[in-house]
Amino acid sequence: MIYLDHNATTPIAPEVREAMLPYLTDEWGNPSSSYRFGSKLKGVIETARAQVGELIGASPRDVIFTSCATESNNAAIHAALKANPQKRHIITSAVEHSSVLNYCMALEKENYRVTYLPVDREGLLKLAGLENAITDETAIVSLMWANNETGVLFPVDDIARVCQARGVLYHCDAVQAVGKIPVNVSELPVDYLSLTGHKFNAPKGIGALYVRRKTPFTPYMHGGHQERGRRGGTENLASIVGMGKAAELALMKLPQYEMSVRPLRDSLEKGILNRISDTELNGHPTLRLGNTTNISFLGIMSESLLLLLDQAKICASSGSACLADSPEPSHVIRAMKQSENASYECVRISLGPSQSRSQIESTIKELILAVKALRDSPPS
Ligand code: PLP
Repeated sequence: MIYLDHNATTPIAPEVREAMLPYLTDEWGNPSSSYRFGSKLKGVIETARAQVGELIGASPRDVIFTSCATESNNAAIHAALKANPQKRHIITSAVEHSSVLNYCMALEKENYRVTYLPVDREGLLKLAGLENAITDETAIVSLMWANNETGVLFPVDDIARVCQARGVLYHCDAVQAVGKIPVNVSELPVDYLSLTGHKFNAPKGIGALYVRRKTPFTPYMHGGHQERGRRGGTENLASIVGMGKAAELALMKLPQYEMSVRPLRDSLEKGILNRISDTELNGHPTLRLGNTTNISFLGIMSESLLLLLDQAKICASSGSACLADSPEPSHVIRAMKQSENASYECVRISLGPSQSRSQIESTIKELILAVKALRDSPPS
């Protein structure tokens, strides 16, 4: 198998699995219990919190463990709205992940007003659009760091500074940035920042939310006193340990990450664009993650192409895995290209650090064969 969908999820690293095993076997106590068999596990959670904090430059106290980034995103927006009940305006972009977009759409039904900032043909956001959209009514700006479908980077430093200057809370969905590029909340005046373990070799079902000290936070999950009363529910101990270990590994490997993915991504991209006619890059050529490419194969439905790739044991996708079973085309490409066709014809390829050159060459060859087969077949 050639796995080229690392923006969808990543494998659990062997060191992460090792670190988790004791908490799936012998150490099954409840960290909230008063006896030692349980209570000693509190320290294990705090070690993981410190590891996650270090990955993003945060003090451990400011990191809340959640079940996933979907929860983190919802919790951040919810907290900002609760803090300012009189402010009923939210600003986000048209290319956010469904965990932000669908929550915003649900909030519109509760009489919130949402501005969905547009992006240009290359997926870039204009800062002036944000500046113009902020009003006295704006409770929160939620804008992602790196796009999951195209890898395009938003100018988070500028966004954070605009929000700070205008006194508006800023939430950043940094799911695709963490582990791929440096993320340091001590240098970025962001109020809330979301991440999830399964994008950097931890298991699925464990996420975190950074909340800046003194930023308002009302729990999204009401319950016990876990997470210092900010997120109720018995802790997912083994996964928390796994996310901590994965964070430690990600921080250690970060200096090599770019070098391991970018040259291969670039040769894959060039190989496709130069050797297959009627192909088009979706996304800015340089302001983009080093592991991601998104290409439209004109006249070919991505579904058909992905099926042929799957038969050749190559895993790629047409966009977000969370929407893969939806008949809707990519909302990200539609927002960029203003064209229905382009959004049905795109394929996202996202590399991981252990990819080999021969895998890239095989992928180009299989794509050439698949595109030829689809273009030569008579229309049904
Ligand atoms: N935000 C972005 C940008 C993502 O890519 C994803 C997952 O694909 C999420 C949020 C949701 O993460 P989770 O699967 O942990 O809920």
